[in-house]
Amino acid sequence: MNPSVTIVGAGLAGCEAAWQCAIRGAKVTLYEMKPLKRSPAHKSDLFCELVCSNSLRAEGLQNAIGLLKEELLRMGSLVMECAVKTRVPAGGALAVDREAFAAAVTEKIRNHPNITVVEKEIDTLDFDEPAVIAAGPLASDPLAEEIVKTFGEGLSFFDAAAPIVTAESVDMSKAYLASRYDKGTPDYINCPMNAEEYDAFYNALTEAETAHLHGFENNKVFEGCMPVEVMASRGYETLLFGPLKPVGLRNPHTGELPKAVVQLRKDNAASSLYNMVGFQTHLTWPEQRRVFRMIPGLEQAEFIRYGVMHRNTFLNSPNLLTSTYRVRNRDNLYFAGQITGVEGYIESASSGFVAGLNAVTGDKICFPPETAIGSLAHYVSNPDATDFQPMNVNFGLLPPPEGRVKKKERKEYLATRALNTLESFCKERQLPYTVPPTEE
Ligand SMILES: Cc1cc2nc3c(=O)[nH]c(=O)nc-3n(C[C@H](O)[C@H](O)[C@H](O)COP(=O)(O)OP(=O)(O)OC[C@H]3O[C@@H](n4cnc5c(N)ncnc54)[C@H](O)[C@@H]3O)c2cc1C
Repeated sequence: MNPSVTIVGAGLAGCEAAWQCAIRGAKVTLYEMKPLKRSPAHKSDLFCELVCSNSLRAEGLQNAIGLLKEELLRMGSLVMECAVKTRVPAGGALAVDREAFAAAVTEKIRNHPNITVVEKEIDTLDFDEPAVIAAGPLASDPLAEEIVKTFGEGLSFFDAAAPIVTAESVDMSKAYLASRYDKGTPDYINCPMNAEEYDAFYNALTEAETAHLHGFENNKVFEGCMPVEVMASRGYETLLFGPLKPVGLRNPHTGELPKAVVQLRKDNAASSLYNMVGFQTHLTWPEQRRVFRMIPGLEQAEFIRYGVMHRNTFLNSPNLLTSTYRVRNRDNLYFAGQITGVEGYIESASSGFVAGLNAVTGDKICFPPETAIGSLAHYVSNPDATDFQPMNVNFGLLPPPEGRVKKKERKEYLATRALNTLESFCKERQLPYTVPPTEE
């Protein structure tokens, strides 16, 4: 057991790593550059800031991300504990009140007697004790340069965030509350468009001016977070089958099924802020205001945050890391979070969980690939990988079922196998593992 650990970055990965070390008795020094310096996407002084959507994506074991959440919850993840406490209704997804979530994590971290927070920008990879670098995809320049100097060229892609509007500025005589197919509670505000309105919006969107971003022209966008205008440029119908699909969202004002529907999701528990689902964008701010105000119901929308786009940097992890997120030729240096090539908030927290646990136990906990948490760790550290790209957790990362399993039973099989494997693994290594009461 290591008596002290250094963590760099108090984001999703860094906070989870710090927590896992602190609860095991290690003295943790957590370096965070906020509020002295902020990345272009970070706005708040709180830890664990969600830079774009407030959704932590689907729940339930039929989704790999739901399985990953369940595994983390059972093993005592701080991020998951705070997410569950600060959730806001969002159909089958786990969405959180962004401020309350960040405040809950910050409070836990700041009040833990084993964690010392130091507000400082780190620019080195040399530490006397085990260290976890969790500085995120927007790690500050001096640290990013040090990483490139030490390990060679970093890789990158572009990621975008969606705008947020105030609820009171939405015209509810045109918009309406509903969930798709009336499933669950009506958690979304829906802005309907008829054919004429969609045509005008589509033309304006595809012709609107985008912000200049150095290097963007030649680079990759993350498919799961593609700017709405890039998606629109792929064809007139693309949005209609994507974020603007109208199915199951009949307009109660007219009784008709709209041509397209823009959905707004609650961004806080007070329901005063809503984010535009799927509207990650690279348009200039005046163009966002002009084009998005063409959406029925949003003519007077007040934008409290505009969409932004940033280059995300990640390591060539298959060449560099082990499946405990440790640097192969360095005993005590770990990376965690999106910088390792896991993609997404919960995936970042999961890598922080693994890296923190290993930094504190002396690199002893390699999760099995049959588990969601282990499958991600094995994905980023697979030395046979070619054309390595950031990856959300998905069932394709888990080893296939042994023997024949019917296609429709496959996900259930993989999820059950994952939880059983994880339970035995945790028991053997004396790691906490709590089965929710309903399943006992
Ligand atoms: C624009 C954008 C939009 C995204 N949208 C989504 C989304 O909608 N859904 C989703 O699941 N994922 C999204 N992601 C991807 C990813 O899930 C997030 O980036 C996530 O926050 C990554 O967690 P992390 O802990 O690796 O990094 P972060 O949460 O970014 O935490 C890193 C922390 O390190 C600090 N730091 C940086 N450099 C230093 C330094 N030198 N010294 C000290 N501290 C430092 C930062 O201030 C920050 O607090 C998005 C990413 C970006 C960039």
